[in-house]
Amino acid sequence: MTHSQALEAFSRIAAVLRSFAWQRAEAAGLSPTQAQILKRLSARGPSRISVLADDLGVTQPTISDAVAALLRKGHVARAPDPEDGRAVLLHLTQSGAQHAEAARVPAPAMLAALETLPAADRGAMQRGLVGLIRALQEARAIPVQRMCVTCAHFRPHAHDDAARPHHCAFVDAAFGDAALRIDCGDHEDAAREDLAPLWARFSKVA
Ligand code: SF4
Repeated sequence: MTHSQALEAFSRIAAVLRSFAWQRAEAAGLSPTQAQILKRLSARGPSRISVLADDLGVTQPTISDAVAALLRKGHVARAPDPEDGRAVLLHLTQSGAQHAEAARVPAPAMLAALETLPAADRGAMQRGLVGLIRALQEARAIPVQRMCVTCAHFRPHAHDDAARPHHCAFVDAAFGDAALRIDCGDHEDAAREDLAPLWARFSKVA
């Protein structure tokens, strides 16, 4: 596959995902950014607005407008940051949590398409995508992701089992490439000096 073929494929898939997310957000009376904020708050818990902006890769004015709309709609509320009395955290209300839950449901067409792939292809695809996302993260082209390959609990190729070679020390379980996480709530940053060796151990086996 050439670079341009890969980029064209990503573009087609992104269009499907974007279209579904926009339609769902519109049906819920939300803008796409508002829906993303609710999803992020659900995944990561109460957050400062500046952290949300970095996380979603949007500008301060864009996030401020979206947060103001969510406050008006009653989907989020402000609370003091227990770690800094001058700072404010945004958290989900009950209605916000319900919208976030609905927004996490994947596009049915994409799920159905993924089901058509053999398990080995899904594993290889996830492995490749993790490598791409890591490279984009290293280039600071996307916000930092909570991936297995940057996690202190990740033990790549710890088992002889070809189907489930990796180990998560957090849940003490083996898993395969298809289960590599890209946004894990249990992620813990690996020490900076461990990142390159961790990636080398993960990527040494094709
Ligand atoms: S805690 Fe999450 S990110 Fe870390 S190794 Fe386990 S599954 Fe992967």
